[in-house]
Amino acid sequence: MDTEKTYTLKDLETTEFSGTPLAVIGHPIKHSVSPVMHNAALAKLRETDSRFIDWAYYRFDIAPEDFAQALPLFHQRSFLGLNLTIPHKVQAMDLIHGVSPDAECMGAVNTLVWDELGYDGFNTDGYGLSRGLDLDLGVSLKDANVMLLGSGGAARAAAVQCVLSGCAQLYVGNRTPERLQDLMAVLGGMPGGERAQTFALSELPRDLPEQGVVVNATSLGLQSGDPAPIDVAQLPAGWKVYDMIYNPAKTALLEQAEARDLPIANGLSMLIHQGAHSLEIWSHSQVDSHAMMTGACHALKLPPRYD
Ligand code: NAP
Repeated sequence: MDTEKTYTLKDLETTEFSGTPLAVIGHPIKHSVSPVMHNAALAKLRETDSRFIDWAYYRFDIAPEDFAQALPLFHQRSFLGLNLTIPHKVQAMDLIHGVSPDAECMGAVNTLVWDELGYDGFNTDGYGLSRGLDLDLGVSLKDANVMLLGSGGAARAAAVQCVLSGCAQLYVGNRTPERLQDLMAVLGGMPGGERAQTFALSELPRDLPEQGVVVNATSLGLQSGDPAPIDVAQLPAGWKVYDMIYNPAKTALLEQAEARDLPIANGLSMLIHQGAHSLEIWSHSQVDSHAMMTGACHALKLPPRYD
């Protein structure tokens, strides 16, 4: 079977995916680099472990209105693991058998694991962010001061991860106040959620601690010419800046932070480590994230990293 092709619901109904199939499901999905990343890591696993000889990772374009019909079919066809991306991460919560406690708080699942009774759901985005911050910027979320920009799906996973990890302070800002309040309500129900406070993106909180990390989880920066979501000049000199956006590799936010000599990193490490963790959940094996990084950089035409 061709792992570079984009498959459809019809393909799922009519084609046999032999061996141990895995897949990412989204809409649109054509530009997803997950198949390249995962198949690179599977090739590495196969070098030392024959269990993975027939594992392969595919890409499916499934529209939201077809998702409820498609999911039981993936199960029937014995897809061991599924990654979900936009727009399925939230809808899946009502269609699966079990949900991990952190994914429940995050309100979304990006990783499903086959079980006799249905799929079990996990969310590896928060883990991916936490690993990325550690590897790229030397930031551990425990006891960190975090300024989170955004209140969409990625921000919610990040905010829940920050609270679960024991961050010191969490400042959350978003363009639309209602969405920000929804996120604060979720955090308010969690132990440690009282460490979260809101701010307006147009004016950074007064008396920020000397050190901390900004995490951009808005989509501002995806389009060329997008401005930075905040005024970087207002950040204390000891802060670091992480942008979940990885393509383009350097957003206006990162450029302005770099011009101030603040340490910066983009979201490539988050992408890699959320994927690596999904594969670890499915395979119960240690996954070579370097192979995933090389594959992703190649597919995204970004400068190679870690090699
Ligand atoms: P989402 O649910 O659609 O949320 C989008 C967020 O961006 C919302 O907070 C929205 O604010 C804000 N936003 C959009 N346009 C804006 C503007 N012009 N000014 C200020 N804020 C704006 O999307 P998502 O899934 O959370 O993804 C958010 C970003 O994270 C995307 O860039 C995505 O590519 C990235 N991401 C990266 C990874 C990774 O692995 N590196 C993983 C997931 C997501 P409103 O509420 O006001 O609309």
